[in-house]
Amino acid sequence: MQVIKSVAEIREIVKEKQKNGKMVGFVPTMGALHKGHLSLVSSSKKDNDITVVSIFVNPTQFNDKEDLKNYPRMLDNDIQLLAPLNVDFIFAPTEEEMYPEPDERDFDFGNLDKVMEGAHRPGHFRGVAQIVSKLFAAIPANRAYFGDKDFQQVAVIKAMVKQLDIPIKIIPCPIVREEDGLALSSRNLRLNSTQRANAPLIYSTLKMSREFAQNNTIEDTRKWVCSTIDANSELKTEYFEIVDENTLCPVKSWEEQGNKVGCIAVQVGEIRLIDNIRFNL
Ligand code: AMP
Repeated sequence: MQVIKSVAEIREIVKEKQKNGKMVGFVPTMGALHKGHLSLVSSSKKDNDITVVSIFVNPTQFNDKEDLKNYPRMLDNDIQLLAPLNVDFIFAPTEEEMYPEPDERDFDFGNLDKVMEGAHRPGHFRGVAQIVSKLFAAIPANRAYFGDKDFQQVAVIKAMVKQLDIPIKIIPCPIVREEDGLALSSRNLRLNSTQRANAPLIYSTLKMSREFAQNNTIEDTRKWVCSTIDANSELKTEYFEIVDENTLCPVKSWEEQGNKVGCIAVQVGEIRLIDNIRFNL
């Protein structure tokens, strides 16, 4: 396993491998790796000859300076976690390497980057599109792996590769959870013990909402989820929306066509957690 810091070098390596007929899988991450990230790596290992994992905390996608400052950084530990999985290359650039000059690009993905995370984290998806497009240029892989935990991010990235004509296949992967249901997240490391003990209410409520939905309208289900979570003094719902899987437009009635996904963001003290669940009623 080689750790590469230079864009030019990783690009050369990937192109050389592909010239020799190898399929390359790419897993972009911000590090502080957990089993969710590792499941993406396993999928890439299964599908491809070569797997590249990037580790880079991207400043342009953080709308909250404190969140960026406090984001866990533990490259040595991450390298140790990836070694037994036989990852071929880790790409761990510096900020100067990724942004030799400020990235002024704007993107427009219609509704996809305006709702939910887009509405509550101004500039977040602009930053995501900036870094992922740069990473895709540095690592022109055959496939790239993203977690369904960041459901809206997957929709935005799929729209981005279509818009920019990037020939990388986007592979969404299932959410990995703790035994108590809490979706794994690098931010979970920052929860104190009381917050950690209460955080599983997010997913247990999402699961129960599928039962509740059998006999209730979308709006009542939405309100029920928010009030159930907010009844816990450690948790505060920022939004819970039931949206169409493809358009991310809010669904008004269960009778509407298309698959529906409930997406939630919850503030747990200073920490903001997101999760989602499918409603296939
Ligand atoms: P991050 O390091 O948080 O930017 O995440 C890197 C990738 O890992 C993204 O595609 C995330 O969606 C994915 N990921 C994060 N947490 C999980 C999880 N619990 N299950 C599956 N994938 C995840």
